[in-house]
Amino acid sequence: MTAARRSVCPNEQVLITWLVWKTGNTRDDAARMTVDVVVLGAGPAGLAVALLLSADGHRVTVLDRDPAEPAAGDGRGVSQFRQPHVLLPRGLAVLERQLPEVVAAIEAAGGLRWNVLAGARAAPDRRYEAMAARRPVVEAALCAVAARTPNLGIRRGVGVSALLPGSSRADGVPHVRAVATDDGETLEAGLVVDASGGGSPVGAMVNELRRLERPSRRPDAAFDYYSRFFRSADGTMPAQPAWPLAHHDSVSTLALPGDNGSWSLTLVVSRRDWVMRSLYEEHVWHRAAALFPGLHAWLSHGEPVTGVLTSSGPATRRRDPIDGSRPPVTGLVSVGDAWGTTNPTFCQGMSMALVQAELLREVMRAQNAPEKVVLRYEDAVHAALGPFYDTLRFWERNRLAEIYAGIRGRRFHGDDLWTVARALEAAKLADPDVMTAMGDLGSMLATPEEVLARPGVVDKALAAEAPASTPARAELLAAITR
Ligand SMILES: Cc1cc2nc3c(=O)[nH]c(=O)nc-3n(C[C@H](O)[C@H](O)[C@H](O)COP(=O)(O)OP(=O)(O)OC[C@H]3O[C@@H](n4cnc5c(N)ncnc54)[C@H](O)[C@@H]3O)c2cc1C
Repeated sequence: MTAARRSVCPNEQVLITWLVWKTGNTRDDAARMTVDVVVLGAGPAGLAVALLLSADGHRVTVLDRDPAEPAAGDGRGVSQFRQPHVLLPRGLAVLERQLPEVVAAIEAAGGLRWNVLAGARAAPDRRYEAMAARRPVVEAALCAVAARTPNLGIRRGVGVSALLPGSSRADGVPHVRAVATDDGETLEAGLVVDASGGGSPVGAMVNELRRLERPSRRPDAAFDYYSRFFRSADGTMPAQPAWPLAHHDSVSTLALPGDNGSWSLTLVVSRRDWVMRSLYEEHVWHRAAALFPGLHAWLSHGEPVTGVLTSSGPATRRRDPIDGSRPPVTGLVSVGDAWGTTNPTFCQGMSMALVQAELLREVMRAQNAPEKVVLRYEDAVHAALGPFYDTLRFWERNRLAEIYAGIRGRRFHGDDLWTVARALEAAKLADPDVMTAMGDLGSMLATPEEVLARPGVVDKALAAEAPASTPARAELLAAITR
């Protein structure tokens, strides 16, 4: 049997001293609080957790089944790797607070600080700053910092095949004491962190430990994404529009700045809207994109530097939600897409993962008793992210119904909350308070409950006239099938 990492980090004494100062615990308690952590998955979630926990003195081993190192511009085994990505203000704030050296590395590699409301406000507020950088750039920055972090090892080309039980720490609840790798090795761990993404095999392994027959649900795909990156000959970017995301009949458009002078345009369609599947062809994509007035400036300012990058986005789904006050297992927590996938249209996935990583660090600083860590972490995540998560589910359900109704030539009405949601969308360009509300919500800086409670916001939104959706579905179909 092999311990996750037996070597004692030369900086461990320094780290324990720091932990004593930070938590107010004695040196002995602080030393006892450091554990062997095995993180499954070296995506943004796994690497962020690994960096934060190793900085607190825990000995962290990250396993990733993919043998490839991330390198800017390169692809890996993760389907969304090449798709446009921005880190929202909420996620960037976590990174700046906890891992400023990662932010510096992203910027050094060409990442662009981008103010979400700069196009709508004369004096931009730094709270709305996001980071525009493709996934390879973000991951390469995390990896570069990980490579010089004591207590942290990354092993690539090693997948996990089973969770191994130890003696139960909480009345009848199975406890995970180790993981078995594909090549037959056993890694003991005080805590296993599942960060293996939306297709995580860990739910099924937990069911096996609990002797449950039920299959673990994989998230269904809800929307397809057809994106192209552009760059201008002189390196300039198009003028920033007031808002990057627009919802039309059948299609949503997303125009995002990118790293190294690039920008991306994405057409988002329902997976069940079959006719849209020809958008993967460059000439069809271009004919369709040209119909959206909000994309004109972006299309004409430069030349495409990629073909059409296609990806199906996962639906917003919690993988295996905790039922009541008993965790399904102890010794195991999940972060990022392994905890739950989110609709990519709103760019929240990496920010959710970073918030979770920060919360896990706080919980582990307070205590490491396996039976308590799982529930405290889940409670903290639920309180911090539950409202955003529920809103994405609400939006996704209604938007899909709206598109299906449109396909059948009908109009979707939805309930009162959907009417308010659509009114906020429509009124944001006309009213500065509604725009601030949308900016806060879109940046994950305020919950829907908070923005809806602001005086006058809902009334102003409902009073505004909704602009007609351009182009209408019939016009779009004509361009696609021509
Ligand atoms: C089209 C699209 C656009 C998106 N745009 C944005 C955006 O703009 N902003 C944003 O914040 N989010 C965006 N997202 C979401 C974002 O990509 C995810 O939330 C993010 O990748 C989650 O990171 P993760 O580390 O949890 O999982 P992943 O990135 O999926 O990484 C999981 C890792 O685990 C490894 N792994 C898998 N199985 C095993 C195993 N058995 N053992 C060991 N390792 C394993 C994989 O190789 C991988 O490296 C987008 C998603 C899509 C699909």
